[in-house]
Amino acid sequence: MSTTTGQGDLFGDAPLRRVAVAEVAVAAPIMTPLTYLLPEGMDVALGSRVKVPLGSRVVEGFVMGLREVSSDGGSFKSLLEISEGPPLLTSVTLELGSRLAHRYGAAPGESFQTVLPAPVRAGMSSPTIRHIRLASDRDATSLHVATLKGKLARQGQFTLLTALLATTEDSIPLATLLETSGTTMSPVATLARQGWITISERYDDEPVGEKSAAPTPTPEQAAAIHSLVSAIHSRKSHTFLLDGITGSGKTEVYVSAAETALALGRSVIMLVPEIALTPQTVERFRSRLGRVAVLHSNQADGARARQWETLRRGEVRVALGPRSALFAPLPDVGLIVLDEEHEGTFKQQNHPRYVTRDVAKMRAEIEGATLVLGSATPSLEAEGMVVRGDAARLRLTTRATGAKLPQVRIVDMRNEKPMGKGGLFSTALFHRTRETLARGHQVLLFLNRRGFSTQVLCKRCGWRARCHACDVNLTYYQGTSLLICHYCDFRQEAPRSCKECLNPDIKFHGAGTEKVVESAASLFPGKRIRRMDGETLRARGAAESIYADLKSGAIDILVGTQVIAKGLDIPNITLIGVINADTSLLIPDFRAAERTFQLLCQVSGRAGRGDHSGEVLIQTFEPNHYAMTFAQHHDTAGFARTELVVREAHGYPPFGHLVRVIAQSPDAKDSENAAREIRATLDATAEVLAGAVTLLGPAPCPIPMLQGSYRWHLLARAADDRDLDAIIAACPERNLRRGVRVIVDRDPSAMM
Ligand code: ADP
Ligand code: ZN
Ligand code: ZN
Repeated sequence: MSTTTGQGDLFGDAPLRRVAVAEVAVAAPIMTPLTYLLPEGMDVALGSRVKVPLGSRVVEGFVMGLREVSSDGGSFKSLLEISEGPPLLTSVTLELGSRLAHRYGAAPGESFQTVLPAPVRAGMSSPTIRHIRLASDRDATSLHVATLKGKLARQGQFTLLTALLATTEDSIPLATLLETSGTTMSPVATLARQGWITISERYDDEPVGEKSAAPTPTPEQAAAIHSLVSAIHSRKSHTFLLDGITGSGKTEVYVSAAETALALGRSVIMLVPEIALTPQTVERFRSRLGRVAVLHSNQADGARARQWETLRRGEVRVALGPRSALFAPLPDVGLIVLDEEHEGTFKQQNHPRYVTRDVAKMRAEIEGATLVLGSATPSLEAEGMVVRGDAARLRLTTRATGAKLPQVRIVDMRNEKPMGKGGLFSTALFHRTRETLARGHQVLLFLNRRGFSTQVLCKRCGWRARCHACDVNLTYYQGTSLLICHYCDFRQEAPRSCKECLNPDIKFHGAGTEKVVESAASLFPGKRIRRMDGETLRARGAAESIYADLKSGAIDILVGTQVIAKGLDIPNITLIGVINADTSLLIPDFRAAERTFQLLCQVSGRAGRGDHSGEVLIQTFEPNHYAMTFAQHHDTAGFARTELVVREAHGYPPFGHLVRVIAQSPDAKDSENAAREIRATLDATAEVLAGAVTLLGPAPCPIPMLQGSYRWHLLARAADDRDLDAIIAACPERNLRRGVRVIVDRDPSAMM
């Protein structure tokens, strides 16, 4: 590209002079910043958003550097425009974006797109949103409404007040109210003047109600808080692993640490997995910390831009959200918390594929902040940080409320004649379920698979229902009578007979949650059984309705996937049955044991949270697997010890570090050839590194075809993480050539 001129042309005829230039990260997949001339009199600061010419286009960019060079003035194109206002990037987010780009092989311009939300980059103005609420009490308002009824001239006022009385919300956005009631501003103004309603600006960060008081910390909590408070006071970057069983009061520890940071005038970033960003979580932090800005991924553009500005000015000092909240423009961050740090959603699954834990550590280092990784089942990566001395462990070993952890029993399915339709219940699970229901308690049945059955096949000719675009089985959904691909969402009507030989006797193997419901219904007739999984949760308000019914006792048995493993806090659930613990163990991935262990511990944590003790039955065909036996005893330390040995023996994380490169193409041969080509390129790099990096592959991916693309992959492995920087740098562009896409995944979370 002709704009990349690097240094000035030293051999030109024009006299050399000193000129000011800007290094600009342009919004294009160009791996280095480009140099542009600063026109005389143009005032530009680091981090400013600018417009620059690129080829025949004008693109957006961010100023990453300013310097003077010797030039005849003709070697550089000029910067065109600077956006008004303070720079969008601060020195911290600028540095963070650069490091992010370097680590994950993104162009700097792409990485700033990750750091800055789209509406902010687009320079969205941020209109204030006005809310309307009732100013008098509801009874008085109702009486007034009655006087308005039927009066044509007062129709608008009548409609507005009726709408406000009908809502359970404490206020309604003005725009919504006008739209749904079909009235104009005039009755709004009248009602406000008469004192029936108030119009206010309302921010999403408003505290809800009174601040609540902190409970007296347990001795373990106090020790953890003490360590965090000292670290925050030191203003140096420290990392802690808060290793505490479910219900041990980790949130209280975060809140106390946050109070310390705020008292020092510093800011706090609180990261939670996407799925945990519930109103209950938000409420807990607000009730203790006051103003908290909640960052949702589905926030409206205007609201997001406005909130970003509020944070940038430091008007609200706590940001709570999923992984992207890590880039909140808060000034002087003193504390970053990653709650449930082991969760998969902390890995971004599109470019740049960053690991939140690692980028959080970057930010903590840049800001001199304290980083807390919290979990009841720490990831092996976090354990590795402790082993290497990069993080200090803080332990919480007892439940803060004094409740006991449930009794966990392993049921060996190899010697069972399972009961119920489809044969999903061991004798033990059947009896314990019956007894638990008889006592009026609730039962949770867990199976980490949606649908009715995961294999639809014909035993006569060997036909299987497979996705045409992905090399995987289709899942049968009985409720809708559909076959669905879980990877590309392809759907078709389920056949009544074999598609090949017309055999009417199709088999449905591999149980999903629908089949569990059917099986439970056959054994416990008349009991109220509900299902909670990715499918049933798609309906609006479904989660709330299920929670409400669980709380009120309108559900006897809840069947669900991992969506029930998190957050569910129902005191009356005293029995949990894991229908098949082996599903996650069989996945060909080095993290299979870790995932299984974490899932079993989480599910177990849902039992016996109230006054009654809980019990968990784990059905498995591998009763002696260490993931089962350590989960049985809630022994995270034991599991980590054993798993670390396995990982070390194979050079897997946290001992070895990985880069996975995938080449995909609609053409099978193209994807293979591209993968071989990449291997040759990386071989050259690996040779320079003299044995520090091992390359494996290429080979077809475990799922060799996805959404119509063939996939080959290779792995680079190194004992020292830093040696992989060169591999990342040597990887080809994402669009290697027409029809071939290259995915570079550092520290991949899945190997499929
Ligand atoms: P975790 O996040 O470790 O699973 P939580 O922070 O949710 O645990 O705490 C579990 C329960 O214990 C909550 O209801 C919380 O209010 C309560 N709790 C926490 N700390 C204390 C304490 N020191 N004294 C009494 N109750 C506490
Ligand atoms: Zn057949
Ligand atoms: Zn598919």
